[in-house]
Amino acid sequence: MLNKEIWFVTGSQHLYGPKVLAEVADNSAAIVKGLNETQKLPVNLVCKPTVKTPEEIHSVCQQANNDVNCVGLVLWMHTFSPAKMWISGLNELQKPWLHLHTQFHAKLPWSDINMNYMNTHQSAHGDREFGFIGTRMRKERKVVVGHWQAPHVVEQIDGWCRAALGWAESQSLKVARFGDNMRHVAVTEGDKVAAQIAFGYQVHAYGVGDLVNVVNEVSDAQAKAQLEVYQNDYQISDETWKDEHAQKMLLNEAKLELGMEKFLTEGGFGAFTNCFENLTGLTGLPGLATQRLMAKGFGYGGEGDWKTSAMVRIMKVMGEGREGGCSFMEDYTYNFDKVDQVLGAHMLEICPSIADAKPRLEVHRHTIGVSCDVARLLFTAKTGPSICVSPIDMGNRFRIIVNEVDTVAPPAGTPNLPVASALWEPKPDLNVSAAAWIYAGGAHHSAYSQAVTTDIIEDYAEMAGVETVIIDENTTLRQFKNELRQNAAYYALKQGV
Ligand code: MN
Repeated sequence: MLNKEIWFVTGSQHLYGPKVLAEVADNSAAIVKGLNETQKLPVNLVCKPTVKTPEEIHSVCQQANNDVNCVGLVLWMHTFSPAKMWISGLNELQKPWLHLHTQFHAKLPWSDINMNYMNTHQSAHGDREFGFIGTRMRKERKVVVGHWQAPHVVEQIDGWCRAALGWAESQSLKVARFGDNMRHVAVTEGDKVAAQIAFGYQVHAYGVGDLVNVVNEVSDAQAKAQLEVYQNDYQISDETWKDEHAQKMLLNEAKLELGMEKFLTEGGFGAFTNCFENLTGLTGLPGLATQRLMAKGFGYGGEGDWKTSAMVRIMKVMGEGREGGCSFMEDYTYNFDKVDQVLGAHMLEICPSIADAKPRLEVHRHTIGVSCDVARLLFTAKTGPSICVSPIDMGNRFRIIVNEVDTVAPPAGTPNLPVASALWEPKPDLNVSAAAWIYAGGAHHSAYSQAVTTDIIEDYAEMAGVETVIIDENTTLRQFKNELRQNAAYYALKQGV
């Protein structure tokens, strides 16, 4: 991601003379250098010349719009930058921006402080003048407050940069649909034109025959070579490895994987969906193949769920370089116990990036919708804080639902369960979490991540101008239901006619 940039732009004016402006430029460069040197940002922060006039501001905003590598801007008013100067620039700025409300020096030099110092280090009020125009112009932006070296500030900038990377991915993402949505299912449907307007990503449908042609072009030798990769990446029992039928099922998956990857890569797709009802010409529902493609970074949604597929891809980009993986997920079954738990899984397609150990590769009978033997990876998810994210189409707009959860170790083995799974305890507890999720209309599918935080999703949703509702340790149902009602009014008004 280091080819992606966030531009650091400092605002000032000519009132203070060249000496102060030189200091402002030096300080800005030092902040950028310092932040880059933390190595905690997922992008390269680039210091731009201080802007002092409406023309310079307008120009840097236009340059940012036109630069493909620039995914956002950090704006800071070291001194005072009268905010009417920012109107034309902000009016045209199409990249997300973060208002960093910081100050070069952390501590006041009590014995030396004079009016020169005060005039050079006046972001305390310069940034408030700038803040006003953002609010006056109804601009969505992130405000981060604190000394730029403080860990909580770096952490927030890191998170926001990840949201900006996700937003950039969202703008260019193409999702391939093989077949259509599962018949009669409501939540996986949606308005693809509205989604492209809101999130930028494109969704394109293909007949399964188009994919079958590419899969059939994969040679036996290519598939055989792929089996060595599997042997290296996963635990495979001798029994499976030496079984002729199991070998055939592994070769099936190898052909599916290589064929789908070729199709997606050549078409410029970052995510895909398929559906067990639309498999004519394929050997069965791809299992291992889909799991591996997700691990390679592709988004995926089952049963034609293109919204969740896109979200999985975007969240994989957001989480890149961080510990922990991201997967397509489904709330599958409950464990009502001392602490109520959710066992998340899917028919087959859970991404091994979330696994707690080297996955086992096994062949089992698949019986849902289609009946066939399928090679698939088995594992349980790594423990720790995670989130489940569900983008839904409300008919006239989108809503993104986030639930913070704790992924925990299963209390016992599940020797008869032939799929990968994640066991979690939702916050604040299952009663409130599931009720809030259902009131909000959250899907039975979600994008599950161990690396992406709620704040990142919230920042991303604000970039898209889309509602987010968050279910966390502070959620109460009374307050949550009111939030849904109030949001409904706000977004209806915001949308206009
Ligand atoms: Mn499903």
